[in-house]
Amino acid sequence: MQRSASSFTPFPLNLFKASAGDLENTVRTRAKSVIEPLPKAPESIRAARRMMDSYGRTILDLRISVTDRCNFRCVYCMEPDVQFQPPEALISPAEIARLAKVAGSLGVRKIRVTGGEPTLHPKLEEIISGIRQTSGIEIAMITNGSLLTREKLARWKRAGLDRITISIDSVRSDRFSKVTRSTTTPDDVLRGIDMCIAEGLTPLKLNAVLVRGVNDDEAVELAGLARRFGVEMRFIEYMPLDSAHAWDAAQVVSARETREAIEAVFALTPTNADDPHSTARTYRFADETAGQIGFIAPVSEPFCGACSRLRLTADGNVRPCLFSTKEWSVMPLLRGGASDREIADFLIDVTWTKLAGHNIAAPTFVQPQRPMSAVGG
Ligand code: SAM
Ligand code: SF4
Repeated sequence: MQRSASSFTPFPLNLFKASAGDLENTVRTRAKSVIEPLPKAPESIRAARRMMDSYGRTILDLRISVTDRCNFRCVYCMEPDVQFQPPEALISPAEIARLAKVAGSLGVRKIRVTGGEPTLHPKLEEIISGIRQTSGIEIAMITNGSLLTREKLARWKRAGLDRITISIDSVRSDRFSKVTRSTTTPDDVLRGIDMCIAEGLTPLKLNAVLVRGVNDDEAVELAGLARRFGVEMRFIEYMPLDSAHAWDAAQVVSARETREAIEAVFALTPTNADDPHSTARTYRFADETAGQIGFIAPVSEPFCGACSRLRLTADGNVRPCLFSTKEWSVMPLLRGGASDREIADFLIDVTWTKLAGHNIAAPTFVQPQRPMSAVGG
């Protein structure tokens, strides 16, 4: 769905308290994707015991949304009155651990714990330690950084968390509250960054989404965080995954535009060290100051050809792609006595359905009903 720039309506400003207990148990009624019978992958593919799709890509990276709830309402992500799944609909820590074990046996090497806001989950430590039981998996988490304390970080690290990514879309207080519609301040998040580094939850990455007319003039200040903390600051293009379905192509700030704005102040050099499966293209500072800048350009330069990711929603649906309009629930298997082998076959079959890619810019593009917060960004 694309609208012209002239039909852009400013985001409403509603402030939410950044606490863990302010969210109601309400049922999402309009986020159902199409449910179809899951086709079987060919026997030769199932026999390989790897998650391979029909384009030759292999899944190495599983993203798990542990909750669809959040204490922020970022303008590009959640509407103020977004509705959440009731807790009983969510996949449990034991079910996540089992799925991680099966995914690990099929070659997954990295699990990213995400949401919604994962730090709101009352059993986050149990989730991390459950995933840790599968050896050889890197466990990363992405958070809005508002609820971090040294004590919590130390507990998650002891449970097995390897590293953290923190989202920060503005360093200006008034703007931060407008973007996140929360009472958290940029200083709260900056303190969280310091704490993660002190706890060794590194390499730490920072994420920002620039939205035209909202924070598109802040690329240089945000890039400055990479230099200040010696970390990677990544700019993600705004994608049509907002719960309001109000995404407008005119609001997307391309990676190229962001890079040019940063380069007007800080010269950048490509690192040429990107993992071929990485979503980001990374640059270092030409003056050799520590820190890096990453650009994730799913809208202007889709990178589906190297995709190695599968996603699990907070209510137990496996999605072949961020932009899928189809997904399949693993819950009947997890709760119905299925064997690990049957769950593995299910994951292999879902992977086989992966499409070649998406093209957000195409007129035929259909925004999935599920927002980013439910899909596991
Ligand atoms: N709440 C956590 C956070 O904000 O980091 C984790 C979940 S959030 C869905 C994961 C990432 O998705 C964040 O970096 C966020 O900025 C990004 N994101 C959310 N909606 C997006 C959108 N419509 N387009 C691009 N990125 C988006
Ligand atoms: Fe919450 Fe993250 Fe979405 Fe912002 S981007 S509303 S912090 S889930």
